[in-house]
Amino acid sequence: MKHTGTCFCGAVEVQVTGAPEGMGYCHCGSCRSWSGGPVNAFTLWQPKAVQITSGSQYVATFKKTAMSQRKYCVKCGGHLMTNHPTLGLVDVFATTIPTLAFMPGVHVNYAEAVLPMRDGLPKLKDFPAELSGSGEMIAE
Ligand SMILES: [Zn+2]
Ligand SMILES: [Zn+2]
Repeated sequence: MKHTGTCFCGAVEVQVTGAPEGMGYCHCGSCRSWSGGPVNAFTLWQPKAVQITSGSQYVATFKKTAMSQRKYCVKCGGHLMTNHPTLGLVDVFATTIPTLAFMPGVHVNYAEAVLPMRDGLPKLKDFPAELSGSGEMIAE
């Protein structure tokens, strides 16, 4: 199963293959500041499942921390994905691949939330313990 998407202007095309490792929402300040939105809807993939199928010359990377290599299109500034080398996973923003059915399973960094979402899903204070977080849950 393949899903294709593009940056805001269409110069960069991204393709994912198979199924994501996980989907959910990140409420952290970095995601909010970079995206300009109150929450980031993420889909996590093995790096080999993600390919830039056209316009790779327009892809630039901004890295504020070692955990996140944020990839965007230099023509339009549109955001594509964030590579998390320390996790071994790539977050292809749900919006980047619109044909993928977005089925969120978790909220991370909910302690930083500015947009409370009472959807019944688990709310992690930061990250799961297996991803070096506290694994602590917080109430809606
Ligand atoms: Zn673009
Ligand atoms: Zn985040």
